[in-house]
Amino acid sequence: MRYNYRYRLAPSDTHRETLDSHRDLYRQMYNHFFHRLNHEDGATKYVEINQLPSIKQWWDVLTNLYSRTLQNVVEKLYTNLSRLKDAKDAGRKVGLLKWKAPTEYRSFTYRQSGLELKNTSGQPVLRLSKIGEIPVRMYRDIPDGAKLKQVTVKKEPTSEWFAIFGIETPDDPPEKPDELTDVVGIDVGILKYAHDTDGTAVESLDLSDERERLKHAQRDHSRKQHGSANYRNQQRVVACRHAELKQKRRDFLHKLSNYYAREHDLVAVEDLNAAEMMQFDSNSRNRAAAAWGTFLRLLEYKCEREGTHFVVIDPRNTTMECASCGVKTDKPLWVRELSCPACGFEANRDANAAWNILVRGLKKVGTGCPESMPAETALPTDTVVSAKRVVETGSPAR
Ligand SMILES: [Zn+2]
Repeated sequence: MRYNYRYRLAPSDTHRETLDSHRDLYRQMYNHFFHRLNHEDGATKYVEINQLPSIKQWWDVLTNLYSRTLQNVVEKLYTNLSRLKDAKDAGRKVGLLKWKAPTEYRSFTYRQSGLELKNTSGQPVLRLSKIGEIPVRMYRDIPDGAKLKQVTVKKEPTSEWFAIFGIETPDDPPEKPDELTDVVGIDVGILKYAHDTDGTAVESLDLSDERERLKHAQRDHSRKQHGSANYRNQQRVVACRHAELKQKRRDFLHKLSNYYAREHDLVAVEDLNAAEMMQFDSNSRNRAAAAWGTFLRLLEYKCEREGTHFVVIDPRNTTMECASCGVKTDKPLWVRELSCPACGFEANRDANAAWNILVRGLKKVGTGCPESMPAETALPTDTVVSAKRVVETGSPAR
């Protein structure tokens, strides 16, 4: 199986200079081939890669770069191009490939060769050809027997450098069970983060302090004279505040997704519920959509890793159908309790939705319905858990 592990690098000042100069050379090469793509007929990935040796003859600073990584730059350009094309073919609205400014080109990749992770004197170092040995802060170990396949080094807007290791372990992913005992449906919302069929409602993460600090830093930044040293320093502060906010959210999503993937045999979620999202203003909508996408991705690979079924279901009417009898009742979103006129079933709107999600998930993997449906057993009493608790204990379970 393949995983990505992200670690902070601790480069010396000399390393930093080298990393930065390499990053900028790769950027210039990207722009060079981007220009050719638009102005030369018959430019293809292979034609361009074959150009590299002759370019090095007149632009000799390029010989300081690792040649496989230089090839990757060309590959990256053409990958970006085909992704755009795919998106366009799929009917999505897409922009154009763009020239990259220094702040927009932040990473480069070593693949298969020219990289090594060494741990000789107790201090792990990443050896990169043409750059040197950079200490790595390994706060968690890479699994035994794993092979390092590639590494992407990335400079964050805070000026910190990170390494994203792509590793491969020899084991196949664990088999997914046929017999399902611990199944869960999760309804994700804007007002509270997640509501599941175990009867747990996890509140949204409170990031208001972090947002306030970010706003403050941005205000200070706008008051500095453009281009001055103070301006640049304050820019750094803004980037740090951004990173803090992002880190806190990621930590929460990691812990919550870990919990669901580890403690269950099947996890059912709904695809982004666009209709429901439309009822919120665009700001909170975008924020929720981004966090939701991250949560889904984390949940998917963690389920794969744990051998847990992961099912995404069609969100249509999950909040309107009665989980007990299936009759549809159209109620505005602010009505938080569902009371079914057909069968008398009563439940919290989100709890009802979570059950519908689970039932659809089970149908999709072909095991039919859970043995005890809500009408027979009554829904578990909801327990509201704060996001803070998930962050502190790593799980919303009681
Ligand atoms: Zn009903």
